[in-house]
Amino acid sequence: MHEIKLRARAKINLTLDVIGKQSNGYHTVCMIMQTLSLYDGIYIKRIDKPVIRIKSNLDWLPTDEKNLAYKGAELLRDTFHIQEGVFIYLDKKIPVAAGLAGGSTDCAAVMVGMNKLFKLGLSKKRLMELSLQLGTDIPYCILQGTALAEGLGEKLTPIANGCPFCYVLLAKPNISISTASVYQALELEKIQKHPNTKEMLFQMQQKDITEMGKLLCNVLETVTIPRHNEIALLKQKMLILGAEGSLMSGSGATVFGLFKEKQKAKEAEYIIKKEFGLRDVFVTEIWNKRKRKHFHK
Ligand code: ATP
Repeated sequence: MHEIKLRARAKINLTLDVIGKQSNGYHTVCMIMQTLSLYDGIYIKRIDKPVIRIKSNLDWLPTDEKNLAYKGAELLRDTFHIQEGVFIYLDKKIPVAAGLAGGSTDCAAVMVGMNKLFKLGLSKKRLMELSLQLGTDIPYCILQGTALAEGLGEKLTPIANGCPFCYVLLAKPNISISTASVYQALELEKIQKHPNTKEMLFQMQQKDITEMGKLLCNVLETVTIPRHNEIALLKQKMLILGAEGSLMSGSGATVFGLFKEKQKAKEAEYIIKKEFGLRDVFVTEIWNKRKRKHFHK
């Protein structure tokens, strides 16, 4: 095998709670992660030259070691003394720096792809362990599906019969938010509303999207909404337009809404795009590997 194509899927957080802060400054979290259909196309080809070459459809994206896809390839080359190099093409469709784990998922896909391409024989578990040194979201991007993430985000419990199928409207405001600055500004003791993770998992098992919509909760909004009111306005608008619930994903700034009907989601996409003057507004879906065929709409 000389080349491989993969889909690096985006994620959202259905709940995001911050439990505490470690002495090293890292925050411990409890969040329900969910993979979306939306993906970056990843193409990897073996090359004789011992280098990692990256190209992307976004000409401003770093193509050197600052790119997480590069880091994933470098980690596997170094760890397993791979002599050959790789050419990687990233067809970016996931909005960048948007709380959708775009970089982490590209890195995860490159590691999964190189494991196959170079017949490294690594188990999913081993790949996830290795990837952790590059970022706490990456093991989840290898795992995919619905999962509870605890610790620093790396302690993962897959949720059997995960999130029921529904349509997900994404809208990214024209603002860039640094994840580090959000966590730095977070005042844990002032947070009044924490997600009810248990109840969310229960309603998920009931396949009750309406109840799930009411339980969406992200404590990082306490930092981002006072700074960027557009996040609150987008959430409100999605509810008015028929979403079962709406929330900011990760550290933002993308807002998502859960819809039972595709038609309603599409109408909301059209209206929000126009009214807010945003480019990155589109409808995608909840994605789960095994249950996909059995999803009812
Ligand atoms: P998370 O949800 O994990 O916090 P994010 O969706 O907010 O991530 P990314 O899209 O991963 O953010 O981008 C964050 C930064 O990472 C950007 O500034 C970007 O330049 C850099 N980056 C490095 N590699 C990539 C990549 N392959 N795709 C997108 N961004 C990348």
